[in-house]
Amino acid sequence: TRQYKIAVIPGDGIGKEVMPEGIRVLEAAAKAYGFTLELEWHDFACCEYYAEHGQMMPDDWKERIGAVDAIYFGAVGWPDTVPDHVSLWGSLIQFRREYDQYVNLRPVRLMPGVPCPLANRKPGDIDMMIVRENTEGEYSAIGGISFPGTAREVVMQETVMTRFGTDRILRYAFDLAQKRPKQHLTSATKSNGIAITMPWWDGRVEEMAASYPEVRTDKYHIDILAAQFVMNPDRFDTVVASNLFGDILSDLGPACTGTIGIAPCGNINPDRSVPSLFEPVHGSAPDIAGKGIANPVGQIWCGAMMLEHFGEQDAADAVVRAIEATLAQAPLRTRDLGGSANTEECGKAVAERVA
Ligand code: NAD
Ligand code: MN
Repeated sequence: TRQYKIAVIPGDGIGKEVMPEGIRVLEAAAKAYGFTLELEWHDFACCEYYAEHGQMMPDDWKERIGAVDAIYFGAVGWPDTVPDHVSLWGSLIQFRREYDQYVNLRPVRLMPGVPCPLANRKPGDIDMMIVRENTEGEYSAIGGISFPGTAREVVMQETVMTRFGTDRILRYAFDLAQKRPKQHLTSATKSNGIAITMPWWDGRVEEMAASYPEVRTDKYHIDILAAQFVMNPDRFDTVVASNLFGDILSDLGPACTGTIGIAPCGNINPDRSVPSLFEPVHGSAPDIAGKGIANPVGQIWCGAMMLEHFGEQDAADAVVRAIEATLAQAPLRTRDLGGSANTEECGKAVAERVA
């Protein structure tokens, strides 16, 4: 039988509350679709571990995680005790780098039962995939400050784009666009203003597009693209962007569909020999942690992405359908969506529908 080994890291705050619901649904999917899960829970990559050990993870974290098919992650951060840059760099960023998770993938879909902040949009109107380059681009450490503290002070930070790094993210995005019914890819650019890297990026997109004749391709400057996300989100299907532009769009997209409590994210290396990491978009939500009222849908949905990554497409589809059916019923929604269910009741409702 098909078996998947998963490192389970709940992390901080509501991460600990939504993770059991994510696991409940994965186990229901495993039973219904005939595969098995081997789960290994880890108590590191959280701020309690930091309080005890002075670091977010043990030095041998990679050995402890070992050869797994994926990492299933909750949320990290507890700003009262550990500064956010310490908790983030000591955990998630280590995984992204070590496993070269160069794709940041965020599905953005307007779900039934979720109030849309955009006027006159209904489920079906917004359904896109945002593909963000996750390793290079604008987020480089090359640069510095000269003549600090003087009137001549100069600060520079380089953008680094490689053909290798750009082509691999574009190939991923085109492959994804080709598989989706609309076969439409939008590239985020800014070649009018950022006149070296972005025209070069456009050139890589054009060259790649030539080998995907079925995929209709267009490009928008990032500023008007952000505006169009709000005004005409139905224009977009698959959207590919550099690290910075993708960062912005991948928060804007979920915001256009109502709540970050349901948004999922994958940090993916398509090479299945190293683990990819699946997590909800939201953080540890200290303001509601410990109350059992957090929305578990983001955690559950990223579990579906993980199943899809394993090739368990039917199970993944079933989980997404179960989420839709659950959200459509007010009593099964959590309070952030105007419902009355607690975390566990909502998780159980999804799991029952999967089973
Ligand atoms: P947050 O996502 O934790 O919370 C923002 C707001 O959304 C809060 O009001 C919260 O109650 C609400 N919210 C978030 N998730 C929810 C859910 N599932 N159900 C219902 N309501 C939900 O963002 P923040 O407050 O800016 O950050 C808190 C901590 O989380 C910080 O330490 C931050 O660094 C960390 N963080 C971690 C990640 C991650 O693990 N990838 C992402 C974002 C923030
Ligand atoms: Mn972001």
